[in-house]
Formats: sequence, structure tokens, C-alpha cells
Amino acid sequence: MIIKNNLELILKTIPNGCKLIAVSKTHSAEKIAEAYHAGQRLFGENKVQELVAKYEILPKDIEWHVIGHLQSNKVKYIAPFVNLIHSVDSFKLLQEIDKQGIKNQRIISCLLQIHVAQEETKFGFAPQEAEDLLSNPILATLKATRIKGIMGMASFTDNSEQIRNEFRILKNLFEKLKMQELPSNVSMEELSMGMSNDYELALEEGSNMIRVGSAIFGNRN
Ligand SMILES: *Cc1c(COP(=O)(O)O)cnc(C)c1O
Repeated sequence: MIIKNNLELILKTIPNGCKLIAVSKTHSAEKIAEAYHAGQRLFGENKVQELVAKYEILPKDIEWHVIGHLQSNKVKYIAPFVNLIHSVDSFKLLQEIDKQGIKNQRIISCLLQIHVAQEETKFGFAPQEAEDLLSNPILATLKATRIKGIMGMASFTDNSEQIRNEFRILKNLFEKLKMQELPSNVSMEELSMGMSNDYELALEEGSNMIRVGSAIFGNRN
């Protein structure tokens, strides 16, 4: 009941056309099933092994999103079914995703993760690196990959002006890339930003995809 209420509360506040990814990492399949029965279909995980285990036992109309750092040697396990990889942080990873997409005869959708936070530990491209990659002709050689937008995380801080500024950097980059001439396997549709503590700010700054975990499922251990 709590999960259903949490979902309803969040859905009430987000605009039409904004997607809610329920981040279920560390939470049980039972809790995911509870959210599923409340109507939720988009779930995000950050560990490949955990994701595959949940995929196998849960309904097949769930859309699974990878939101955490992904190692190239693990792409093969999720390539048959993953819906969107939010956390592409290198060209090498993109090449491996493409290879596995070809093997599985499917197009794998991705977002480029952009580093805007002050923490040094966060993965991702600097905004300029993303621009450079998207204007590099080598992208057109990828046959089974589609880049659909960008993802980013704000700093872990209670300074909401700083968070807002970081979201603004992401939104500006998103709009700039939209105007850029892009290869046919790239389209700027999704701006994935906002988590439990900052999704309201992210929505105000133009997010159209939020990734919310603890505000739905409760705290992780
Ligand atoms: C864990 C995680 C989330 C969700 O975090 P909450 O604070 O629980 O909402 C969103 N995005 C990424 C990349 C994460 O790793």
C-alpha cells in the first residue's frame, strides 16, 4: 500500500510526457511486483547481476533501465532485453553495446551520462566531450545503437541553487545538442535528471525523465 501511495503522490506532481523510472536497486522482487501491480512499468537498476535475476522472475512487459556505471564485459548479459542504458560514459562502452546489439539483432537505446556534479567520483562525459563525440563521424559506424539523449546527476548537497545550476547546465547542453547536426542514430529526446531529493528542481529545469528510488520504495540498507 505504501509503495502504491508513494507512486501516486509522485505521478500527481510530474507533468504529462515526463517518464518516471522507479529505481528498485537493492529492493526485493516482491516490492517491484507491488509497484507493478500499482501500474508502474519502468524500473531502473544499477547492478547487472541483480537486474538479470529480477528480469527473469518478473513480468516481461517491464521496461528495464540501467542507471549505474556499466562495465563493458557485462553488457552481454543485459543486451537481449534492456530498454535504455542511461549511463554510457565512454566510446569503448558504446562500441561494446553496439557489438552486443548486433549479436542480439536489436537496437539498444542509450543516453550519454554527463558529468556536472562537483564530486570527482561521478562518471560521465564533460559537456564538451559529449559535443565532440556527437560530432565525430565514427558514431555513424555504430549499427545497433541509438543515442536518445543525456543523463546527469547533480551534486549531493542541500544547496538547491547549486543543484539547479547543474541541472541548467544539462538542459542547456540538451538544447544545444538538439540544434546540432546529428548522425542518424542519434536523437535528442530524453533528458534524464532528478532523483528522490531533487526531482522537483529537475522538473522545473526541464527534465523529462526522473529516476526515483527511495521516495517510492523507502530507504536502502
Ligand atoms: C540510486 C540512483 C537513483 C535513485 O536514487 P534515490 O535517491 O533513491 O531516488 C537515481 N539515479 C541513479 C544514477 C542512481 O544510482
